[in-house]
Amino acid sequence: MKEDILGLLPEELEDFVISHGHQRFRAKQVYSWLYKDIESFRDMRNVPKALISILEENFNLGSLKLIDRQISKMDGTQKFLFQLDDGNQIESVFMKYRYGNTVCLSTQAGCKMGCKFCASGLLGLSRNLTLSEILSQVIEISKITGEKISNIVLMGTGEPLDNYVNVSKFLRLIHNPEGYNLSMRSITISTCGLVDRFDQLADDFPQINVAISLHAATDKKRNEIMPINKKFPIASVVQKAREYVSKTGRRISFEYTLVKGFNDEDEDMYALAKLLKNLNCHVNLIPLNEVSQTGLITSGRKRAEECMEILNKRGINATIRRQLGADIDGACGQLRLKQSIK
Ligand code: SAH
Repeated sequence: MKEDILGLLPEELEDFVISHGHQRFRAKQVYSWLYKDIESFRDMRNVPKALISILEENFNLGSLKLIDRQISKMDGTQKFLFQLDDGNQIESVFMKYRYGNTVCLSTQAGCKMGCKFCASGLLGLSRNLTLSEILSQVIEISKITGEKISNIVLMGTGEPLDNYVNVSKFLRLIHNPEGYNLSMRSITISTCGLVDRFDQLADDFPQINVAISLHAATDKKRNEIMPINKKFPIASVVQKAREYVSKTGRRISFEYTLVKGFNDEDEDMYALAKLLKNLNCHVNLIPLNEVSQTGLITSGRKRAEECMEILNKRGINATIRRQLGADIDGACGQLRLKQSIK
């Protein structure tokens, strides 16, 4: 099968172009077209026909096939289900915020982390996404919607730090001035807490926003819903977060999904406030998106507000995540899950 050209780094494309007898600057021309609204290599107007034929012989242009698209009537959120070459399916989401359009990308087909509340992990990990599969989600969504994308969150299916090689290549490319030219500050990477990767992340991308999925303030509770806590217990996660903040000078975020009667009592908030004391951080409270297979129940908006107040009163900066696309298959991984159990 032909390789997807989007999986090449700019220097690899240069090598290819030069080794086929064309001048180096042609690679730049080709490269700049990859991010535009083109259907085929023939749309690359300033590229010589001979080079276009060579590209056609050797490469595909994007490999995602759109299977399903849902558009929220409430807020314009759009969910996309794409099929990969090997039949695996992945989800991505497009959201409109006041500060710009955001896409939420998947980094793996499935996930092996097994968080109890999450739809994405129910079927385990199939495989890592390739560089081109991660990048293509952005390119396809901007083509389909015709909208400019100004922010990216790596919060879709998968654990981005478990696919660090491809995710870091993606971050470099999306940041490249000849590609999308997105600043690192408009990109957020969300992790269940693979803190053994944090030193490298801070070295490679000190400007990126980091969100840690915490969801509980004690090891006893976190062990129950997040198996990764057995490997990286809460104290090690928070310690590493503190190091990360002092190393990069950036604020760090914690995601805390509120599950009724499990982690939303006053005591849970007191423990959370104590845990994060004197750390330059922000807590994002997320009312649980109910996934029927998990049996867990959401705390609801009112309780989320009470939790937020408790945290704020204790000096912890907390907000509640706006729920977008409530009228379409909301929770991460639900669209994909629905397809696979049809
Ligand atoms: N693996 C990464 C990124 C993917 S999950 C991580 O764990 O952060 C992105 C966020 O959605 C995480 O905070 C995750 O805990 C949260 N999430 C997953 N399922 C959810 C659900 N049903 N309701 C609310 N948040 C959920």
